[in-house]
Amino acid sequence: MPRRFAFVLNLLVAAMLVGPPAAAETPISRLAAALRFQTVSPQSPGDFDAAPFLAMHQFLAAAFPRTHAALEREVVAGYSLLYTWQGRDPSAEPILLTSHLDVVPVIPGTEEQWEQPPFGGVVADGHVWGRGALDDKVGVLATLEAVEGLLAEGFVPDRTVYLAFGHDEELGGPQGAAAITALLAERGVRLQFTLDEGMAIVEGMGGVDRPIAMVGVAEKGFLTLRLVAHAAGGHSSVPPRNGAIPRLARALVRLDETPLPARLGSVAGGLLDAIRPYLPGLQGFVIAQRWALGGVLESYLSEDPAMNAIIRTTTAMTILEGGVKANVLPTSATATVNFRLVPGDSVDFVVDEVRRIIDDPGIDIEVGQGREASAVASADSAGYAAIARAVRATDPDLVVAPALVVGGTDTKHYGQLADDSYRFTPFRLRPSDMGRIHGTNERLAVDDYATMIAFYSALLRDASAAR
Ligand SMILES: [Zn+2]
Repeated sequence: MPRRFAFVLNLLVAAMLVGPPAAAETPISRLAAALRFQTVSPQSPGDFDAAPFLAMHQFLAAAFPRTHAALEREVVAGYSLLYTWQGRDPSAEPILLTSHLDVVPVIPGTEEQWEQPPFGGVVADGHVWGRGALDDKVGVLATLEAVEGLLAEGFVPDRTVYLAFGHDEELGGPQGAAAITALLAERGVRLQFTLDEGMAIVEGMGGVDRPIAMVGVAEKGFLTLRLVAHAAGGHSSVPPRNGAIPRLARALVRLDETPLPARLGSVAGGLLDAIRPYLPGLQGFVIAQRWALGGVLESYLSEDPAMNAIIRTTTAMTILEGGVKANVLPTSATATVNFRLVPGDSVDFVVDEVRRIIDDPGIDIEVGQGREASAVASADSAGYAAIARAVRATDPDLVVAPALVVGGTDTKHYGQLADDSYRFTPFRLRPSDMGRIHGTNERLAVDDYATMIAFYSALLRDASAAR
């Protein structure tokens, strides 16, 4: 069949001329390519689309051939990835680096506000643009670039290195990270430390004149309470005293005027001590003397919402309901209040405090969804020291400080596997970037990406050495 033979030959020649499809050439073009897969964690599970996840798996295998040849790769819970890089020393505790494959959706109606399409993977103006450029495909890709580079040099770790890339972090990781954690636990794996996303290199924080690499050592907890005031109701022409709405309002004002106690020890204390040498004289002095001047420091820090969220369990009133008609007294009024718990403040403690502050037995307190704050990882461990060295290897001027993560990460699952779990992705978060995570115009500076790969490379080399 000469005709068919000629056709196949033509295909072969064409393939040789064009090269294999989707073979991206540089780290930044590989990152850009990864941003084009619409690996979205949708609001309702019914909208989940598996195809982009499977396509991304294939893309990673093609883009990182050495990694896929040398490391064992397992697909967990359908769409999450677990890589095992076998270490030389089976007696040394393994380490885990983790990021996630999924991204949040683009808020409908905001597409037009993007300077580049959110799933275009466009490199322009010194940045790579798209969903996942910061949160958190960048972590997946930078980690794999570092591994690929080390393999090219013939590097073999002493400790076994696990790479875990969940597929549903933006939904809390109930399938991906939870299943990977269960799998490793079942295999009896106990880790020296874990490193996840969560914090970054922050510029312009707290008056410090140089960037701070904030290494998250703990994650805040979460609690939602519903406060319900009941009343008799009736016609609004003859209102009794203490109706449902004023009663609830009084409780809310009390809560608003009585913040939960500041916790200047623990995580906040470690952060303050780390940044103190770089603060202007008076601020540094007050921090150094905080056991004597705690009140001054506390009111100063409370003024700044970001610092306030680090030093205490925050109180946020988010939903208010009550009444249906202008001339009808409501029989109940309800407020939803969301708390973010610092380590040390338990769910039970917060419920008790709220009851004490409101001081009104006529208000029912219904306890909704809650999760305790995480354990606090040590800022004196071998893992923390290795992370700090890797940070300084990329830029000796960076201040490294332990920090508190106010959002949630997959480490709520992986954290069970280690005493020390850290949360840090080494990109620069400038004040103008804060709204880009989960927001519009998510992007990463091209120069920052090279630094990120250098960080993971230095960390893998350093932390995987058994000492
Ligand atoms: Zn994330």
